[in-house]
Amino acid sequence: MALDDYRRKRNFAVTPEPAGGSAAVPGASFVVQKHAASRLHYDLRLEMDGVLWSWAVPKGPSLDPAEKRLAVHVEDHPLEYRDFEGIIPKGEYGGGTMLVWDRGTWHPVGDPWKGYRKGHLEFELDGERLRGRWHLVRTFDRRAGEDPKTWLWMKVDDEAAVPGSGDAVLREHPGSVLTGRTLEEIAGAPKAAPQAPPPPREPIPGARPAHFPARIAPQLATTAVAPPDGDTWIHELRLDGVRLLASARDGEIRLRTRDGEDWTGHLAPVAAAVARLPVQTAWLDGVVTVLQPNGATSLQALQDALAEGRPQDLVYFAFDLLYLDGDDLRGAALLHRKQTLATLLRARPQPALRLSDHVQGAGVAFYNQACRLPIRGIVSKRGDLPYRSGRSRGWVTVECAPSPVEPGEGG
Ligand code: MN
Repeated sequence: MALDDYRRKRNFAVTPEPAGGSAAVPGASFVVQKHAASRLHYDLRLEMDGVLWSWAVPKGPSLDPAEKRLAVHVEDHPLEYRDFEGIIPKGEYGGGTMLVWDRGTWHPVGDPWKGYRKGHLEFELDGERLRGRWHLVRTFDRRAGEDPKTWLWMKVDDEAAVPGSGDAVLREHPGSVLTGRTLEEIAGAPKAAPQAPPPPREPIPGARPAHFPARIAPQLATTAVAPPDGDTWIHELRLDGVRLLASARDGEIRLRTRDGEDWTGHLAPVAAAVARLPVQTAWLDGVVTVLQPNGATSLQALQDALAEGRPQDLVYFAFDLLYLDGDDLRGAALLHRKQTLATLLRARPQPALRLSDHVQGAGVAFYNQACRLPIRGIVSKRGDLPYRSGRSRGWVTVECAPSPVEPGEGG
């Protein structure tokens, strides 16, 4: 079958690459992986009928239509290879570090099987770094004794082309589209700036040893008309953005919305910031947004930043820590969870990952102060309660009153 060559070359007891064989998912995806094997190269993979057609591209893709890049046709890879980012052990086939350089969907022009057999594929790419129309053309001349695995990959001169750009797209985007990490960071090479060792941790009351949760459903707030009073309540600003649960497991970062949608690929700077936390395993809860010059957070600005490809403007405000290095913290009191979170974030200050701070008690005073800021409201939470998935009265939101209309205004 199609993956026999792929499996024959690998020892799956040694390499972390997937063995393949799970059911095909609908949709035709593509991925370009950057692979520091014995020589640095890029691998283009196009999903077709449950496998990934694959080419090794020594010089990588170019947005310049004048550049024709050699693409060596290699064995089909299993679909799960799309997400593979990590280290293939030395001495194994393709040993070295690999990152996901681009991913998205591909759309063949005409019958792809016919083109594949004939040796000329024309297709559109809808990725994060590669877009528009492309050609893959087999070039060998049998009579000249050329290798039938030799193809050329080139950009069609369309709106997505950048004539004269050479290798610019490769230089401008050296890192992973999934996590923002470079090959060096994945390989665990020492970083340019040495980091202080993480501070020793206090034991957290209510934490208990547990397996890393595969999924966590978020705790949701109910609405209230007035801020609750008393010192058992803490109060945070209500952030206008998208709720996001972040998980880190041995360097593998996942950012998921409250519906479980995977946004890791859209939020590379946030994923990179989470990856730099001094943790082995963790789950964080928070909101991703864009901070406006006036200090406001804005869902609209977040949507604009994503649509216009400016992920560097994003900020993830973390307000809860649910799991840390083998301990489930959901049974701990919120104040203890936030204290540990604050210590973690202070150990690695980063613009894309910040603490959503709070005040304790004095809810009415906080509300009156906060609502003078350009915000929609506040979130009040019981500081003494565990984290509970779903909607509960332990968290309440209080909207700021709409600003009064001045008499005589409008008309
Ligand atoms: Mn490769």
